[in-house]
Amino acid sequence: MKNIVRCAVLAVFCLFLCSHLAQAQGLIKITDRIYSYADTKDPSPSNSFGANAGIIIGDKGILVIDALASAQEARRFLDDIRKVSDKPIRYVVDTHSHFDHTFGNAEFAAMGAVIVAQDNCAENMQISSRQVIENPESYGMTKEEAGVVKIACPNVMFAEKTRLGLGGVNVDLLFIAPSHTRDSLIVYVPEEKTVFAGDILFTDYYPYMGDGDIQGWVKTLDHLMTMDADTIVPGHGPLSTKKDLADMKEYLLAFDTKARSLCATSGNLQEIAAEMKKSLPLRSRADFLIMGSIQAKYLKPKN
Ligand SMILES: [Zn+2]
Repeated sequence: MKNIVRCAVLAVFCLFLCSHLAQAQGLIKITDRIYSYADTKDPSPSNSFGANAGIIIGDKGILVIDALASAQEARRFLDDIRKVSDKPIRYVVDTHSHFDHTFGNAEFAAMGAVIVAQDNCAENMQISSRQVIENPESYGMTKEEAGVVKIACPNVMFAEKTRLGLGGVNVDLLFIAPSHTRDSLIVYVPEEKTVFAGDILFTDYYPYMGDGDIQGWVKTLDHLMTMDADTIVPGHGPLSTKKDLADMKEYLLAFDTKARSLCATSGNLQEIAAEMKKSLPLRSRADFLIMGSIQAKYLKPKN
């Protein structure tokens, strides 16, 4: 009898664990109208490098924030969207041009979604997509995967600010300054006090800084700190607060100062990265991006 009870308890525990794990991998409810991936633990290329993505549900349809790193990943996202809403997908907002957030665009465009981004995004997307497709192995992709990528550039762009109405909820898109990229925007839902920061904010992930403008990035983080928001969804990492914005600013400034000083006297990427890691604020995931950032921003050939 004791064994039967023990087995039953174990079975209930396993069921709880399985349902909890399944839930953790799906979209998290932030408000009645907003869902998001968050705190994605696996930073591998097949998991969109741990990129978050989310949706805002209006009475007239859905706005998708970022489309993940491939058609396959976009379909995974779409399956999760359909678990919470069957409304039509009206818009995809690209928080910026990097491929881990945009290579899934074409899946949503094929369903009739309008792709919205900041003015600089289409040009940057063409350049960075070409780099990825021509050197897939450097970005964790196979030649076969790169061969089937369909690029869908934005149809609608804006310079500094625009508002999209979804019926019952408005979504503001803001560009403060060049930051993580020259096209990184903020998605803000004032009524729900929620911000999607894209890769302007990495929380507990080492950030990629290769295309970064440090001064503009700090200005953008300072602006985010003034916004009336209870929840901040970062581009990578768990749901965040203003403390995480302050930590991000501190990290960027520390990294920039240290990288400049070390790269002035050395060209050895491994040595510089090892030295940097000793003094940088510690983060849990994607430490390969320390080397990636140094290589792309501080050691690139000067001509
Ligand atoms: Zn990015």
